[in-house]
Amino acid sequence: MRTPLIAGNWKMNGSAALVEEFGRVFTDARLPASLDVVILPPFPYLDAARHAFADTVLRLGAQTLNPLHSGARTGEVSGNMLKEFGVAYALVGHSERRQLYREDDEAVHDRLLAALSADITPILCVGETLEERDAGKTMEVVLRQVGYVMARLEPDQRARVIIAYEPVWAIGTGRTATPRQAQEVMAGIREYQAGFDRELAAGLRLLYGGSMNAGNAAELLAQPDIDGGLVGGASLKVDDFLAICQSAG
Ligand code: PEP
Repeated sequence: MRTPLIAGNWKMNGSAALVEEFGRVFTDARLPASLDVVILPPFPYLDAARHAFADTVLRLGAQTLNPLHSGARTGEVSGNMLKEFGVAYALVGHSERRQLYREDDEAVHDRLLAALSADITPILCVGETLEERDAGKTMEVVLRQVGYVMARLEPDQRARVIIAYEPVWAIGTGRTATPRQAQEVMAGIREYQAGFDRELAAGLRLLYGGSMNAGNAAELLAQPDIDGGLVGGASLKVDDFLAICQSAG
């Protein structure tokens, strides 16, 4: 049985006040008994979030990390630093990082290994652009992104990876993939993983991301291969994010 997971990616948004608000609201929130919930705030808020979330179900995630443990990498943050601040999850390969910071599959793989070696659960983000979808290349692109990383891991490492399918055309656009479109791709990812190991594929947690909100979450989360959501914009409003979490029961 796969435990559902809802992760809120604040991107370069939020404030100390928002951290406090989430801590307050989630302290008394009614949530499904079996659910993991993660907030990924910008780095400067991690320490405050660690304290504000201490009595809640909220766990902490990072939006990226550097492949190295330490060194001359101005502006970067490493996995072991994040771990010191209670970070349990890290995104790797978010499409904004792939596009705006030119992170290719190799860079994504290196970051994912860095997360694993710091004992942080990586959430590997994959997804096609609109042009790629229109050209009928969705599965080719998604399985290339998944395959590049997964094929280079040891079996025990593969079992620790969470995959988020986020069609690029659905991120921050208000245009959500239909439950059927999302399910189709995510079933394809699970089937691909089954080629390595059927048991591992059955336990693999797959998240959908791309304009998930309080109104469409339940239908998406009801799909057999969707085990949770990676939520951007709607994770900045505590009531909306809470409603998404509640629909994951
Ligand atoms: C994201 O950034 O991962 C995301 C899914 O954003 P949004 O929910 O705003 O589309």
